[in-house]
Amino acid sequence: MFKKIDHIGVAVKKLEDSLSIFQGALGMNYSEIEEVPEQKVKVACLPVGESKIELLESTSPDGNIARYIEKRGEGIHHIAFEVDNLKAVLEDLKRKGIQLIDQEPRSGADGALIAFLHPKSTNGVLIELCEHKV
Ligand code: ZN
Repeated sequence: MFKKIDHIGVAVKKLEDSLSIFQGALGMNYSEIEEVPEQKVKVACLPVGESKIELLESTSPDGNIARYIEKRGEGIHHIAFEVDNLKAVLEDLKRKGIQLIDQEPRSGADGALIAFLHPKSTNGVLIELCEHKV
């Protein structure tokens, strides 16, 4: 069902500061900063092998990332798995009693379709599923 770890999302206060660490000190590359208004975030993706680190900065004090940092501080926010047919996977997981945050796929960064599962169902781990257009 899951093809690989697509990316690990990291909640950060300021992208520029984090990029100086992840890009500057750790030597990772990133392509561009993308804004995803639906999720009230600015995103920088840094490829590592076949996965990526996704740095997330909130663009609004009431955004999910801002609220997360307020409660728990900066750090790993979610793990994203790549799937082929997101709609079918969501239906399958729902049947198996997994609680979904997104009942239907919605658009995420980089033109992908994404959906989040509820961390209550998955040992406190916020899981994102993404389907990339070919
Ligand atoms: Zn993500």
